Amino acid sequence: LTSFSDDARIAFDNLADRTAGLVQPTMRLGVTGLSRAGKTVFIGALAHNLIHGGRLPMFRAQQSGRIARAYLEPQPDDAVPRFQYEDHVSALVDKRIWPDSTRAISQFRLTVEYETARAWGRLLSGGKLSIDIVDYPGEWLLDLPLLRQDFRAFSEQATALARSSARADLAADWLALTGRIDPKEAENEGQARALAESFAAYLAACKADSRALSTLPPGRFLMPGDLEGSPALTFAPLPDLPAGKAPRGSLWAMMERRFESYKTHVVKPFFRNHFARLDRQIVLVDALQAMNAGHEAVVDLERALADILSCFRPGRSSWLASLLTRRIDRVLIGATKADHLHHESHDRLETIVRRLVHRAGERIDFAGADLEVMALAAVRATRESEIERDGERLPLIVGTPLAGEKIGGETFDGHSRTGVFPGDLPANPDFLFADPHGDEHAPLVPDLNFVRFRPPKLERTAEGATLSLPHIRLDRALEFLLGDWLA
Ligand code: GDP
Repeated sequence: LTSFSDDARIAFDNLADRTAGLVQPTMRLGVTGLSRAGKTVFIGALAHNLIHGGRLPMFRAQQSGRIARAYLEPQPDDAVPRFQYEDHVSALVDKRIWPDSTRAISQFRLTVEYETARAWGRLLSGGKLSIDIVDYPGEWLLDLPLLRQDFRAFSEQATALARSSARADLAADWLALTGRIDPKEAENEGQARALAESFAAYLAACKADSRALSTLPPGRFLMPGDLEGSPALTFAPLPDLPAGKAPRGSLWAMMERRFESYKTHVVKPFFRNHFARLDRQIVLVDALQAMNAGHEAVVDLERALADILSCFRPGRSSWLASLLTRRIDRVLIGATKADHLHHESHDRLETIVRRLVHRAGERIDFAGADLEVMALAAVRATRESEIERDGERLPLIVGTPLAGEKIGGETFDGHSRTGVFPGDLPANPDFLFADPHGDEHAPLVPDLNFVRFRPPKLERTAEGATLSLPHIRLDRALEFLLGDWLA
């Protein structure tokens, strides 16, 4: 149940949002995804395309010329860091390097002035919509299930996963360390820190390892935001706890207390102050990376997706459901980095991710929301081309590999362009779940090419005006997320 202060706080925030909304309609758009999924790049490209009148044929308000202008306004929530739009766009456009990735929550306001198609709409809103774009790590959503768990249940689940064949070798150090400890021994800060650091190192290894396993809670262990080193983050699960209660003054009691404070002071405030106020959401997913890392990574991604989706449709009696007075009515799953594929495979990527999302949704009985899946590249780093070989025309993608990328024995310097065969995705997504025949880590689509390219060079018009960033299907994503609010 929510406490009185939760209810009061939410009611106040919503009232404030609504009152401001009477003066000027405001949409809160959440952008999330696990780390490196492409959040920063997506947000930068979205705002840049709107501000600079980018080529967005499937985004009707823009295509029909109803958008008069889009510009940044001061961000209204003083306590939330601002998304550093200017820095990120300068990296992408001027330096042609990828911007710094999302480390914590940030937000900024983009205001769009437009002609509404309806006269009464014009009277009400004056044709102005403010979009508060909220960028936050998807890892933080994985913490929701913790709210239903006590320390014992959390420890049991975390230990079972750490001992599973997929993770046991990565968890070996932590398991060995924690195996030497008696949970009933006296509490000790040094001990607690060693355990927390070792557990966090194991979680980081799951992510960093070429196996590309998705993240496990606690989400802040990998994405601490501004909480790095704080006591609420200095805990770890304890395996094989004896029956009964934690003895007073024991390490066990200390860990239990900190686990509870993590939920109270870290997890709940995020859901209450940020998540509960969103109207729309895009979840970015790097499915290509998971497919490249093999069967286990795909299964793991499906599990993470189920956890993430469960935040959007929490069970009625859950703590979160009672907070969600404004319901997120549209969720878009964006399969990112589609510019690594030839356009013939874009629909296939969508089919594959739709299957993954569908299975994840079934696990948690997800129903009712307007849920859409799209393959996209927020920034298209490649161009398509063809090559003729043995009388056959083969598709190519052409771009500038990042400095240090190696292709067929050649190391690139970050300045020369080259073409690579992108490889084909299978038309039938069943391959995702086929028996891996013992090799959990073999790439599921072996001939996919994973060259990392630099962001594209912007062409300039004859008058020297900057063109916007090229993309794949960003316009469709905008239509789904914003279109009806700009009707
Ligand atoms: P975040 O952790 O979700 O904020 O991820 P970023 O937005 O920083 O993206 C991580 C990396 O993925 C970038 O540094 C790029 O290398 C790559 N990336 C993201 N979006 C795209 C895209 O649209 N096209 C290509 N080619 N690469 C992308």
